[in-house]
Amino acid sequence: MKVTILVSCAVICFSSVAFSSSVDKSLIFLQKYGYLDGTPTRSNKFSRLKRENNYSEALKRFQRLYGLNPTGIADKETLLAMDLPRCGVKDPNTSKQTIQKRNAVLNKPLWKKRDLTYTISQYSHHLNRSLVEHEIERAFAEWSKYTDFTFTNSKSQNADIDIRFERDHVYGDSFYGDNSLIAYTQVNKDGMRLIHFNDEKKWNFNGKSDSLFWTALHEIGHILGLDHTNVIGSVMWPTSCLSFSELQSYDIQAIQELYGLKKTHG
Ligand SMILES: [Zn+2]
Repeated sequence: MKVTILVSCAVICFSSVAFSSSVDKSLIFLQKYGYLDGTPTRSNKFSRLKRENNYSEALKRFQRLYGLNPTGIADKETLLAMDLPRCGVKDPNTSKQTIQKRNAVLNKPLWKKRDLTYTISQYSHHLNRSLVEHEIERAFAEWSKYTDFTFTNSKSQNADIDIRFERDHVYGDSFYGDNSLIAYTQVNKDGMRLIHFNDEKKWNFNGKSDSLFWTALHEIGHILGLDHTNVIGSVMWPTSCLSFSELQSYDIQAIQELYGLKKTHG
C-alpha cells in the first residue's frame, strides 16, 4: 500500500526522472540525510565506505522510512524515492527494526515558553511578499490550533525564529544546484531557530505538491521538536510530494504528546 502511494507520488512530482544506474547516487543521499557517516561527496573510495558503513543496512532503513520494500538494494524504485523533493533535515537514526510511529517525536519539548516570535529576514526574489507572509502565517496558525503556542511576526532580529529564502548561503547545506532540497531548519550560533526555503524553487500556492504552505507547516514542526516520520499520510514525512492543507492526525497526536492538549481557546 505504502509503495503504491509512493510510486503515485513520484508520478505526480516528476514528469520525467533521470535514474542513476550507479550506487554512488544512493551513497551520497544516505550520507547527506543521516544514514551513513562521512561527507556526501563523490570520490573513488565508495567501495571501501560501503563496507565500513554497512551500506546495505543504511539503505534498508531509508526504504523502511519511505514505505518501500527493505531490500537493501539501490533498485529503480529506491532511486526514484531519493529523487523526490524533500526537507534537508536528516532522517531519524532508527534501528533495523520496524520504525515505530512514536519514535518520530523527540524525547523532550524544545520550548518552555509558548509565545514565540518570528521574522522573515530575507524574502524571496520572485514571490510576492504579502503572499509569502500570508502562507507562513497560515502555517503557524495551523500549529496554534492544536497547541498553546502563539506565533507573532515581530519583524525583529531578536525573534525566536528566523525565516529566510536562500539561493546559496553559508549555513549548512547549500540549495545551489540541488532542486530536490526544498527547505530545512537549523540552529545558528546564537541559538536562533532558522527556517531556510530554497529560493531557486518554483513554489506552488494551490495546495498541490511543493506547496509553500505545506513546507512551512513541515518546517515549523521541526522548530517545535518533531522529527521525520515514516507515516506517509503525515505532514512530518520528509518529502513534499503529498502536500496537505492541514495537520494530519499523526502530527496532532505527536505535537500534543510533546506539549499537551490545547488549554486555551480563541
Ligand atoms: Zn523535515
